[in-house]
Amino acid sequence: MTSGACIFCRIIKKEVPARIVFEEDGIVAFEDMNPQAPVHIIIISEKHIEKISDLAGGDSDLAANLMLAAKKIAKKSGVEESGYRLVINCNRDAGQQVFHLHLHLLGGRKFTWPPG
Ligand code: AMP
Ligand code: ZN
Repeated sequence: MTSGACIFCRIIKKEVPARIVFEEDGIVAFEDMNPQAPVHIIIISEKHIEKISDLAGGDSDLAANLMLAAKKIAKKSGVEESGYRLVINCNRDAGQQVFHLHLHLLGGRKFTWPPG
């Protein structure tokens, strides 16, 4: 898929509405439209990368900024102390639906392990 047709790229370009909660250092985060927990935020880079397997050596700042955004957003969302889970789905077995690398930040309830 080209970035022009990518739903998350369209959110970044504000062509598709989303509840954006964070924009900093090339990272954008917004509320998931189908939340699986009281807090469910999608965190993406402005750069279109399809999946974590496609990260290259030159993307190390981008990868770090994704993680740093996650911890800031967890604090802002009030789940830093109670706890939260970060998820990256990659390809078919993980059920990746949107091929623009993203972190799910989930919180506000207790999660089980192992995941389903
Ligand atoms: P994944 O299975 O990891 O690819 O997850 C994709 C996530 O993106 C799902 O949780 C969807 O609910 C969410 N999603 C897809 N389209 C949108 C959208 N337009 N706005 C907000 N969240 C979306
Ligand atoms: Zn994209």
